[in-house]
Amino acid sequence: MEHESFRDHLSTVTQEGKRIWVYPKRQKGRFYTARTVFSFFLLAFLFLTPWIKIDSHPFMLFNVFERKFIVLGLAFGPQDFYIFALGFVTLVVFVVLFTAVFGRIFCGWACPQTVFMEMVFRKIEYFIEGDAAQQRFLDKAPFDSSKLLKKGLKHFIFFGIALLIGNTFMAYIVGIDETLHMVSFPPTDHLTGFVSVIVFSLIFYFVFSKFREQACTIVCPYGRLQGVLLDPNTVVVAYDNVRGEPRGRTEKATPEKNGDCIDCHLCVAVCPTGIDIRNGTQLECVNCTSCIDACDSIMDKVEKPRGLIRYASMKGIKDKVKFKVTPRIILYSVLLVILLSIFTTLLLSREDVKVNVLRAPGKLFQEMPEGKISNLYHVKLVNNTFGDIPVEVKINNPDAEFKLIGKDISLPSLDVRDAEFMILFSKDKIKSTVMQLNIQIYANGKIVNDIKTTFIGPPKN
Ligand code: SF4
Ligand code: SF4
Repeated sequence: MEHESFRDHLSTVTQEGKRIWVYPKRQKGRFYTARTVFSFFLLAFLFLTPWIKIDSHPFMLFNVFERKFIVLGLAFGPQDFYIFALGFVTLVVFVVLFTAVFGRIFCGWACPQTVFMEMVFRKIEYFIEGDAAQQRFLDKAPFDSSKLLKKGLKHFIFFGIALLIGNTFMAYIVGIDETLHMVSFPPTDHLTGFVSVIVFSLIFYFVFSKFREQACTIVCPYGRLQGVLLDPNTVVVAYDNVRGEPRGRTEKATPEKNGDCIDCHLCVAVCPTGIDIRNGTQLECVNCTSCIDACDSIMDKVEKPRGLIRYASMKGIKDKVKFKVTPRIILYSVLLVILLSIFTTLLLSREDVKVNVLRAPGKLFQEMPEGKISNLYHVKLVNNTFGDIPVEVKINNPDAEFKLIGKDISLPSLDVRDAEFMILFSKDKIKSTVMQLNIQIYANGKIVNDIKTTFIGPPKN
């Protein structure tokens, strides 16, 4: 663009640093309808998931306090940290690749901030206060009973929804049963949980009633990354300046002088982040598609083809070429496939019970009473299931004596346990200094591991 001064400041902040409140005009159109339908499914998924149980266990749980996680019915504990770490790296690569190709499509269609703001809170606001012009008027009007009623009702509903989100958030962390228990008993019975829900809810209320688009333009790290992730081949919500310029009102006398943009400003009026997409791709644009719908409606009226604002790459608009696969996209895709393969292999090869037996460091053997020799072993057990598991250790040598140090080895659900045991042999049964042994670990009566190890006795003369 020739003049880029709009990039020096945020469209929602004055030169003096004061907030400019955005009153986006009510939207309608095919993209808005599609987003409404899609949001309905996303919201249903968000609110219903904590209620879904498989074999009486949650379908999803992120209990950071007890370090127990359930994703799509699969249980994970702290021992699975490496899977989470790899999953996180895979997600980052996916986001980078996806953004490089499709820009901020996630922001417009699936980001909880946009979905809640545009599809829940904004719709309620339109319903109670009316469209942009009426909202502006109401905000400027003195506080009378009508204004008090509208504002009071709006904020009451907003806080109610924020409470619902706060409780749902809690249900993802501690489970739906615990959350229902918390809401059914006085706050003093579960003060920490109560305070947490209120804090979550107040944050959500503040974000959706006051902070709004600032969350995307000032706080969101994903938005900040756009500068490095987007390139001229990235598909974004873009204004076709080749077709649209020079913009101007339709002059009946000299229509050939103007491009297709009639400079009606409707695309600006509907923008929830208060920008003018005709200036080019901007950090503030969350790709919500409102300007596409708005401009399409104008194009229909002036009988020009739709798509003056559309999903397109800047290069595609300039050169009038279609989407192109760049070396960067190929590189990201290869990396993503490799990471996804490793991640899936790790996930599928995860055992329900993992056992590792090692000889304890230090003394090789110990002389015991009654002419016996002992070796000390260390066992690490991981339970990746929902149930507690009783564990049994057997040795494949009838002369060996097994002695557990401490109580029985039982393995609580989604936990890691360390235990120690001794293997003892009478001196006369020790055939060589180093004897091969097989240690079998049984969990719930089933063999889960057959480990080869050694028993070290005193040197033979
Ligand atoms: S410029 Fe268009 S797509 Fe971007 S935020 Fe504004 S209305 Fe949404
Ligand atoms: S809505 Fe379309 S025609 Fe109107 S100003 Fe925006 S780009 Fe131009």
